[in-house]
Amino acid sequence: MKVLTVNHVTQRFGGLTALSDINLEIREHEIVGVIGPNGAGKSTLFNVITGMYAPTEGDVYLGETCISGWKPYEITAAGLGRTFQNIRLFPRMTALENVILGMHCRRQTTLPQIIFSTRRKKEEEERCRKEALRLLSIVGLEGKELAMPSSLPYGEQRRLEIARALATQPRLLLLDEPAAGMNENETAQLLEIVKSLKSIGCAIVLIEHDMKFVMNVCERLYVLNHGEQIADGTPEEIRNNPLVIEAYLGS
Ligand code: ADP
Ligand code: MG
Repeated sequence: MKVLTVNHVTQRFGGLTALSDINLEIREHEIVGVIGPNGAGKSTLFNVITGMYAPTEGDVYLGETCISGWKPYEITAAGLGRTFQNIRLFPRMTALENVILGMHCRRQTTLPQIIFSTRRKKEEEERCRKEALRLLSIVGLEGKELAMPSSLPYGEQRRLEIARALATQPRLLLLDEPAAGMNENETAQLLEIVKSLKSIGCAIVLIEHDMKFVMNVCERLYVLNHGEQIADGTPEEIRNNPLVIEAYLGS
């Protein structure tokens, strides 16, 4: 079963072609990497998939459903979760509250409704709390539920973002440079967590520059360069692809 299909997607910004005829297929439970030099179009690809931009040409399918032109929150509700290249947590909310907020994204509740709703039942609150605690423990943040994001080390903030994205119950999770800025120890912890996400049943597509990380965790890779898809294949195939070595790995 395919979770995501990117079908001949081209994205132009004025005269700049950020993506040119990109084709991706992600199957259930797969962990797939997108690599390439800075400016290759990787984040733009995520932005098109998540509905920040409607593709200039081509279509994006989540399962069998064409989601091109859908709004980001509609795409989240349809089962697509993401984290961003730069951390985006709610600074005045605890770790637990950040995750609970993620659950409500799925339900399309507005922020004021979440905060001011007095009708919400106690059991529902308790269920959300338990689920959020479970997600925090999946990303190795048990015991940190009452911490404010800024009090957490950088690596833990990034993992908190993953927990919040998981709270939307995604069939597919997009991670934009999850290991960026992490030290070796934090990267190793993240590696184990990403691998463990496979067992909770969502597919993952990640953008990452850390080649050791990518080659270790990804089953397949797509390579972008100047908005073009120059290769795809297993880590082994990509490592030995002369085009990829010239454009990216050789540098
Ligand atoms: P990567 O994530 O691979 O480093 P990006 O997707 O961020 O690359 O950028 C690809 C190209 O598209 C860059 O030249 C960038 O400047 C351009 N770009 C990205 N977003 C926009 C935008 N909203 N408006 C204009 N140009 C953009
Ligand atoms: Mg980027």
